[in-house]
Amino acid sequence: MKEISCKLLVVGAGPGGYVCAIRAGQLGIDTVIVEAKKPGGTCLTIGCIPSKALIHAAEEFEAARLAAEGKSAVGISLSAAAIDLSKTVAWKDRIVGRLTNGVAGLLKKANVKSVHGFAKFRDGKTVEVETETGTQVIRAETVVIATGSAPVELPPVPFGGPVISSTEALSLKSVPETLAVVGAGYIGLELGIAFAKLGAKVTVVEATDRILPLYDAELTKSVGKQLAALGIEVLLGAKAQGLDSGQLVVATADGATRKIAAEKILVAVGRKPAIEDWGLEELDLDRAGRFIRIDDQCRTSMRGVFAIGDVTGEPMLAHRAMAQGEMVAEIVAGHKRSWDKRCIPAVCFTDPEIVSAGLTPDEAKAGGREVKTGVFPFAANGRAMTKHGEDGFVRVVARADNHLVLGIQAVGQGVSELSAAFGLAIEMGARLEDIAGTIHSHPTQGEAFQEAALKALGQALHI
Ligand code: FAD
Ligand code: NAD
Repeated sequence: MKEISCKLLVVGAGPGGYVCAIRAGQLGIDTVIVEAKKPGGTCLTIGCIPSKALIHAAEEFEAARLAAEGKSAVGISLSAAAIDLSKTVAWKDRIVGRLTNGVAGLLKKANVKSVHGFAKFRDGKTVEVETETGTQVIRAETVVIATGSAPVELPPVPFGGPVISSTEALSLKSVPETLAVVGAGYIGLELGIAFAKLGAKVTVVEATDRILPLYDAELTKSVGKQLAALGIEVLLGAKAQGLDSGQLVVATADGATRKIAAEKILVAVGRKPAIEDWGLEELDLDRAGRFIRIDDQCRTSMRGVFAIGDVTGEPMLAHRAMAQGEMVAEIVAGHKRSWDKRCIPAVCFTDPEIVSAGLTPDEAKAGGREVKTGVFPFAANGRAMTKHGEDGFVRVVARADNHLVLGIQAVGQGVSELSAAFGLAIEMGARLEDIAGTIHSHPTQGEAFQEAALKALGQALHI
């Protein structure tokens, strides 16, 4: 049995863990990171990146298919469009490979020691890892738990056979003819839309009475329209009850039972913290529901043990995990840091995309604030028209008294790229006048952001 000691041990090399380790290494902290699978975690290997690659391929295929059907709005014609999903998946795997190798290289460059294997805690300062070359014991002064999350299983429709999670959905060899999706949240709709564009007949089963319940209804309206345009049937207020000879049995909102033919059934009803089998019970940490409870420095209830990322709860987003990882590394290095971010922007990569940063009008009002809201539609934005993306809008929410921007939301084609500007404006404490007074390049969709601020000030120019 080999033993090593270090100042900082990070368990899990997803976006939270690897960023924490790189920053710690840069700060001269003697750091070891343990990863059971591939550096990059869920996000790089089976999450953000693979799903966005599939979404991109689906968009390209849909454009080609429409051209082949003589329906291209921009005048392109093709004799036929075909997709070989195994080649798409191989292309996605090459991207993943480049990124995971890149992360391994960055860890090395920061002088972080990487150990490959599944870490089990003996106590709050010691883990044991079964590696290819035997058992490795690692002792550390400080530990960061960054073990991430895993898909939630639905007991009546357990994973296996035709019932798949996003992990399998991102590595299918061919496009299923029929796909049932349980859950109209992030994964269900991002992937459901992609598979519909790839040619699958998609049916979505959602337990609540609307799609993407995390986002306000104004923002999801355009997505609902696009689901219908793609021929995706959405059953709201419906629950998956089981399987019957390859069909998904669903209790519908009106109390009836419906059977849905489905070659594959994608269950995407949320993710749970990865807290099993690594010895959480040895640490007996306080919990917040199923997640590990943390304070504003990501400290757990045990001294010298931090937790970051999905294992600590919502929002389970890669950029939150990364920001926590960077902060924790600096705290371990002795810097005075605590969670002081004004917002964690969220992006849903549906068609159209949705971005939300800070407070929605309803959330701001619920906080007892009087607000001014400005909405600018992409129908009046030249760049959006040239991209055939007139559906959607940018909305800015600000305090009525001093015009401090509290929230910015958008829905539309490609608006994910506006999320950086939205986050920056909120983080910098921008007022409506700051956004309105900033020259925005023309022609860009970003101009809709400036115009939404102008609109809130009663000075919109292009509407
Ligand atoms: P993870 O990325 O889950 O990494 C944890 C790592 O720890 C894993 O590699 C695991 O193998 C390792 N590990 C666990 N236990 C041990 C142990 N005991 N010993 C050693 N290693 C261990 N977020 C976004 O922000 N944008 C998106 O577009 C987006 N798309 C997504 C699409 C899908 C299909 C999915 C599933 C998720 C998506 N997410 C997205 C969420 C994002 O992937 C997560 O929020 C993010 O990966 C969380 O990072 P993390 O470091 O907390 O954990
Ligand atoms: P989610 O929380 O986004 O959506 C789950 C959906 O399933 C909800 O609409 C919920 O009402 C529904 N649901 C729950 N139980 C159900 C049942 N029994 N029958 C039918 N519907 C049911 O979860 P997800 O889509 O699995 O994604 C998991 C997490 O991964 C997200 O919370 C998010 O943090 C992350 N993620 C982020 C992105 C992104 O940032 N673009 C993309 C994918 C995943």
